[in-house]
Amino acid sequence: MTETSAARAARLAHLRGEKLRKGDPVALPLTLSSMFHLPGDPAGYAQYGRFSNPTWEAVEEMLGHLEGAPALGFPSGMAAIAAVFFGTLKAGDRVLLPSDGYYTTRVLADRFLTSYGISYDIRPTASFLDGGFEGYRLVFLETPANPSLDICDIAEVCRQAHAAGAMVVADNTTMTPFGQRPLDLGADIVVAADTKAPNGHSDILFGHVASRDKGVMQAISDWRKLAGGIPGPFEAWLLHRGLETLHVRFERMCDTAEMIAAKFAQHKLVARVRYPGLPDDPSHNLARAQMERFGFLMGLTLGSAETAERFIDGCALIQPATSFGGVHTSAERRARWGDSVDPGFIRLSIGCEPADELWTALDEALTQASG
Ligand SMILES: *Cc1c(COP(=O)(O)O)cnc(C)c1O
Repeated sequence: MTETSAARAARLAHLRGEKLRKGDPVALPLTLSSMFHLPGDPAGYAQYGRFSNPTWEAVEEMLGHLEGAPALGFPSGMAAIAAVFFGTLKAGDRVLLPSDGYYTTRVLADRFLTSYGISYDIRPTASFLDGGFEGYRLVFLETPANPSLDICDIAEVCRQAHAAGAMVVADNTTMTPFGQRPLDLGADIVVAADTKAPNGHSDILFGHVASRDKGVMQAISDWRKLAGGIPGPFEAWLLHRGLETLHVRFERMCDTAEMIAAKFAQHKLVARVRYPGLPDDPSHNLARAQMERFGFLMGLTLGSAETAERFIDGCALIQPATSFGGVHTSAERRARWGDSVDPGFIRLSIGCEPADELWTALDEALTQASG
């Protein structure tokens, strides 16, 4: 029996307290140091700022607690994904990526993995099981995918990929460990951009890798130490603070998103809503089975690119911005980046504003944008 999210959230606030000695500061100190006092035999002591830092270690302990697996911090979500690729793959390996997931992951594979003799294929998340996993070393899934919000069956992908000899990596950025638990569903590695909801305040980039496989974690830790892609202590300190409120923010954002998606689904000015929590969404049954919440992201299709831009710009409670997961609601029209979506498709990230006020502002802006 795995621990519940509530139990995990409750203990999260006390992880540091459990180890304090009398007189220690209750709040996490920010340790900025490249050097450590190190006379004589260095074994067993902090040695150098590229190898370890007490502030990252504190945030890694929180991330590890949330994931139920050892975690390593990185300076961004992409640094975490790159560390998995470069720390675990070798020439001749084949990788499977989602065609509708985070675009930069595919660009990284295309621009760099191929030049090291590692090939890759892409496949839509909604039909990720079609075609099987024979011949792949690494199967990388993202569910719900950003921005399509399509879903794949994590446990079934893991079962079939493992039978074919592949390792499964899940990008869990859109859900956080409070919304979905890929390692418990069989994934070998979880990666995530803590830049998004885990930090929640839109002021840093951060990422992590978590796995219960000791060999994988050793390779990724060696990669980080040798390549130097280490997180900054100040960013780690801010993420530590952000994580303390992740549970309350995430619950609020998901509750509000459920309410608002249902209202958009009834709205005559919205052509289509994608939200896994809507009973008629193509992802709904699978989402119920494998996700603990339905998330705070939704896809809205409005009549045209112009209407979508007017809605985003004209709503007082929408921050027009790329990225998501902040305390403030934010949105953008994804076609502006060349995603293969309808020109009027908006990715909306629900924030922590009071739900009724947020709905009133969204509804008014929608009417004005369409008028
Ligand atoms: C944002 C994001 C990333 C990359 O994170 P950065 O911190 O911007 O490097 C990776 N995967 C997904 C699904 C994302 O949304």
